[in-house]
Amino acid sequence: MFEFLKHITPKIKILFLSLFFILIPGAIISYLSMKSIQEKADNQSIKFHGTTNLVRDKLESKLYQLETNFRNSVIDSILILERETEIQTLLQKLDHKYPAFTNLLLVGKNGELITSLLTHGQHKGSSSAAPSSELRKIFSKAENREFIEKNYMGAIDLYRSLYNRALSPQDKVIIHARIGRNYYKLGHFKQGILEYEKVLVYANESISIGNIPASIAALHQIAEGYQESGALNERNEILFELYQQLLYHPWDLSGGDYLYYLNSVIQQIHSAEADSMVELRSLEVRILDQSAYLHLIESEILGGLMSELKHLTSSEINHKSYQSEPGPAIELAYFILPPSIKQAQFLALAFQFDKDYLLTEIFPRELAAVELGKDITVGILNEQDSLVYLQNDLQLTSYLVAENFTQFFIPWKVALFDSTGKTIEQLSARERHLYLGLFIGILAVMLMGIVILVRAMIHESEISRMKSEFVANVTHELKTPLALIRMFGETLDSGIVTEESKRREFYSIIRKESERLTHLINNVLDYSRIDSGNKEYDFDETDLVTVIRHSLEAYKFHIRDMGFEIESKMPEDAVMILIDKDAISQAFLNLLSNAVKYSEERKHIRVEIVRETNSVLISVTDQGIGIASDELKKIYDKFYRVPNDMVKKPRGSGLGLTLTRHIVEAHRGKIEVDSEPGRGSRFTIRLPLT
Ligand code: ADP
Repeated sequence: MFEFLKHITPKIKILFLSLFFILIPGAIISYLSMKSIQEKADNQSIKFHGTTNLVRDKLESKLYQLETNFRNSVIDSILILERETEIQTLLQKLDHKYPAFTNLLLVGKNGELITSLLTHGQHKGSSSAAPSSELRKIFSKAENREFIEKNYMGAIDLYRSLYNRALSPQDKVIIHARIGRNYYKLGHFKQGILEYEKVLVYANESISIGNIPASIAALHQIAEGYQESGALNERNEILFELYQQLLYHPWDLSGGDYLYYLNSVIQQIHSAEADSMVELRSLEVRILDQSAYLHLIESEILGGLMSELKHLTSSEINHKSYQSEPGPAIELAYFILPPSIKQAQFLALAFQFDKDYLLTEIFPRELAAVELGKDITVGILNEQDSLVYLQNDLQLTSYLVAENFTQFFIPWKVALFDSTGKTIEQLSARERHLYLGLFIGILAVMLMGIVILVRAMIHESEISRMKSEFVANVTHELKTPLALIRMFGETLDSGIVTEESKRREFYSIIRKESERLTHLINNVLDYSRIDSGNKEYDFDETDLVTVIRHSLEAYKFHIRDMGFEIESKMPEDAVMILIDKDAISQAFLNLLSNAVKYSEERKHIRVEIVRETNSVLISVTDQGIGIASDELKKIYDKFYRVPNDMVKKPRGSGLGLTLTRHIVEAHRGKIEVDSEPGRGSRFTIRLPLT
């Protein structure tokens, strides 16, 4: 299958195979896992949508149930009622009893409305009896004095003359109010105020002064009296009371009078900021909202609603959303009343859900029973997509999925939130990133493994190449001196050399060659001892100068014979040091023989011993071929020989420097090299003296 790989170098082969067996399956696995993450995200999304729908349906069915109960109860209650005022009370009661519903509107056949908003206690004073004819006579006389004759005191006297009569509360209220008015005209505000205060005593819900509840009218006048007489504190107190009265007993939300009074009080009272104002303010907002709502219903919605109601036959509940400009949509629910209802003048009931109540009571209660998992929260979004309810007290903005309501509050949405605020994309992205990171991590580790493997293999093959080169070199190194020794030995043995000087020369050659042999064999043996951890050193207090000098002497002549110039500089005095003298000598000779081997034209060698305070340096400097800087680190490696372009590379074992360094380090010393290709090298052994 991989025939073609035969012709490729092992490095590329390994790379190719690792690519094939690791990267491609890795890519496939990562593709598949990405795909499955995507599928998981899709499933997740479907699941979330399903959950949202379930929650939405649950909420809607609750609303449906509430609404149906409410409708049945309304129908049952209306069935037993007769009078219009009772109906108003009933509507208010229903509004109260069913807090989920609000703004009840009973729609008459001709578009007239009775609402739960209209009154919250005080009705229009319509039931008061008209004053008797005798009373009316005195009233008109007094009015004549007041308005035509401008005789205010006279008018007051006339009204006062009525005091002893048996008067209805309504009449008493009118008399005191008129006396008060005349005192005001006279500028006697104090007396005027006293009269209006009497009005307050007699006033009750059904008593009015010209269509306005008597208490409201009187309070208003008292406030004005204080204002005129400069008693501002008292005026403010009265205004506050008036404000409360208006808010707690609104009497006609759709009428201009009520809003007029409320508005004028609001404008004056705004400076008074007390704690009790907070509640009043919210009541005010609510009442003004209701009033605006009622106005909107009457002016914009009622017409269309009427024509729709006429076509309805069953009392099913319908929902409609009206968009008022500007402002939020008005959601109205309505149903027609069954024909059996006696109050035939009423056609239908319209109402609204109390959204605040739904959001604070109904929804939380319903959702509390829903088990969604610890990281999921439900929220409700309104038509502007802003959060109006969130199950937990979290600050979340982005949701996972959202589904519109289908029957109620159609522009609203039920949304699922991740409790950490993540979107569905972010959720799956997190997983995707995790997997991707993991995959890249694994891949990186695999690639690292491959690189290490390739390097180790290259190193191994390099070592084995060096080893075979070593064998070839050593064999040659052994053979050459042996051949020489044998040849000269045989020559001498044959007796043909008679000349004494020649024989000496031959002996000398035999001795030198056997020394070379010894040196080589020593190196190889030492290396094998070091390699197997058996090398032992024999330390002795020795004069280093003598050791080096003797070693140099032994080879000096031989080296000079080869045309070298040797320069040496050594201290006069002995340098005593604890060393294995044979080992140090061997280390030095290795450096010396390298200097000889790796010199070409400039055959100059300098040997130097320098004593420093704490150490002694032995250096061998040549002017030979030098070593490239990137090779400097490797020359100490076993069997390593700098690849050389020189045609005649000197033979060697690649062990000399390995051994030298080992010896030096065994003496707690260091070996350094300073070399430049083409200029020469200097090897320095530094041995510590202590
Ligand atoms: P070898 O038997 O090859 O000389 P060594 O371990 O003694 O082994 O040296 C390793 C290599 O370092 C040598 O092959 C040579 O390339 C380089 N080298 C060592 N000494 C010198 C030097 N004085 N000048 C140039 N190159 C040297």
